[in-house]
Amino acid sequence: MKSYFRPEIDAMAGYVPGEQPKMANLVKLNTNENPFAPSPEVEKVLRTFDAALMRRYPDPRADAMRCAIAQRNGIKKENVIIGNGSDDILTMIFRSFTSPALAMAMLYPSYSLYAELAAMQGAEVIRIALAEKTFALPENLLEQASRANLLMLTRPNAPTGNSFCFKTIENICRSFDGIVVIDEAYADFAEDNCMELAKTLPNVIVMRTFSKSYALAGLRLGYAVSSENIIEGLMKLKDSYNVDMLSQSIALAAYNDTAYFADRVAGVKAMRAKLKTELEELGFYCVDSQSNFLFAMPPDGDGERCFKSLREEAVIVRYFPGEATGKYVRITIGNEAENARLLEVLRGIYQ
Ligand SMILES: *Cc1c(COP(=O)(O)O)cnc(C)c1O
Repeated sequence: MKSYFRPEIDAMAGYVPGEQPKMANLVKLNTNENPFAPSPEVEKVLRTFDAALMRRYPDPRADAMRCAIAQRNGIKKENVIIGNGSDDILTMIFRSFTSPALAMAMLYPSYSLYAELAAMQGAEVIRIALAEKTFALPENLLEQASRANLLMLTRPNAPTGNSFCFKTIENICRSFDGIVVIDEAYADFAEDNCMELAKTLPNVIVMRTFSKSYALAGLRLGYAVSSENIIEGLMKLKDSYNVDMLSQSIALAAYNDTAYFADRVAGVKAMRAKLKTELEELGFYCVDSQSNFLFAMPPDGDGERCFKSLREEAVIVRYFPGEATGKYVRITIGNEAENARLLEVLRGIYQ
């Protein structure tokens, strides 16, 4: 049958999310979900929410959430937009700033969804290769990105987990003639973040999500902070009611439980340090991580073998085939029992 799709869509492979398998005794360490439950305040909302309210449409701009984020960051609600997950915000950004005439530059390796979103727009993708082993930024990043209208920086990066020097990022933001998006999906697990740049530079957008550090991947809530002008522009192409009423209430409750949040983030960071040491004792090389996962090279440098051997034992990690990534597996920090089971299986393979 003749295809009625736009040629750009026919040419796309489509983004493949990490699998959500239904195996018995599964140890699931493949999509960077949080090993802890979300805040108990989330359950409280679920128990007490008045279903009759759902007769009405939700607040189209999720202003209660916007105000809470604005207040905590010392900005105005006009500097904040809420999305149905940060993937929703990425969709708005790519529709706004890319086209067949407006290219997008991204790091490589990084979050491959960016390239799919660019393809949907018929936009050229410029891939900026990171250094081997350290996955550091190249010196000439600005030169490589110069033709682009949109520069995607992921900090900490995924799937590599490392961060980049703040000063370097600031210089890039100041010099790049276009929009710089800093995807901070993992920033809560890092030593610092770039929120200050979104507050002070008119071309910078910082994105956050509740999926990782707030343990709410199933909820779908993300947000972006930028200048009023950029946020107002993004609002034009947002789905009118992109975030449902229940999600708005739940996210706000989780966001306000700062003590629980701080405690669980600290817990993940402590387990990350422990797991890294244990993997290194087994002969793995781990990229310095500021996220809730480790990008780890097994002793034989064969990421695919590691992934497959773990999978046979129902331990699911993520493997990204390819020149720069195929030597590694990406392992989400699990809970104590999951990390212990992972190590037990790995000892069986490599010892
Ligand atoms: C998980 C992730 C996202 C997506 O977050 P959602 O809010 O779940 O859509 C965005 N960017 C990166 C780099 C991620 O790892």
